[in-house]
Order: sequence, then C-alpha cells, then structure tokens
Amino acid sequence: MLYNKLSDYLKKKYGERVQRLPINAGFTCPNKTGIRGNGGCIYCEETGSGFASLSPKTPIAEQVKFMMERYKGRANKFMAYFQSNTNTYAPHMY
Ligand code: SF4
Repeated sequence: MLYNKLSDYLKKKYGERVQRLPINAGFTCPNKTGIRGNGGCIYCEETGSGFASLSPKTPIAEQVKFMMERYKGRANKFMAYFQSNTNTYAPHMY
C-alpha cells in the first residue's frame, strides 16, 4: 500500500524538516467518556497518546515555547498540533 508521509510532504513544501509540537489542551475522547464508548482504544493511554505533552494546565503559549526549545536541535520550522486524546473533542462540543 502506497501512502504519503506527512513529514515528507512538509519537507517538500517548506524545503526542510518541520518538527511537529504536541500541545495538550485537555481534550478527552468520546470513546472514553461514555458518549460513544468506554475504555478507549486498546493502544491508547489513559491520558491519550501525547506522552510527550505537558499538562493541559500549562498555558498553550508556554507549551509551544517549551516544545520549540525541546526540539530546537532537530528543526528550524515548527508546527503545533493538539495531541492527547481527540483534538476535536473540546468540552463545549457535547
Ligand atoms: S483518543 Fe483516539 S486512540 Fe485514544 S481512545 Fe480516543 S479514539 Fe481511541
């Protein structure tokens, strides 16, 4: 099966590696809260898949700054994204 890796796409588009920065906004998942199911997927940690993420109590701007510092040796360009559970499942959505 052929597919395009996001990292390859970003490198081609921006001319160099783009490091993704996992940001934790405190979202949960409908497969854990009982809205769609309970227990979540078998491979998902209780806190979601963002093992590298900071606490959601840390302001997002601080998380971005921290992550840029953490990965500064790997890339010059960065892209923040919401990790840890489902990034479209904010509390106001249900
Ligand atoms: S966050 Fe994603 S992987 Fe984890 S339980 Fe929800 S749907 Fe599954």
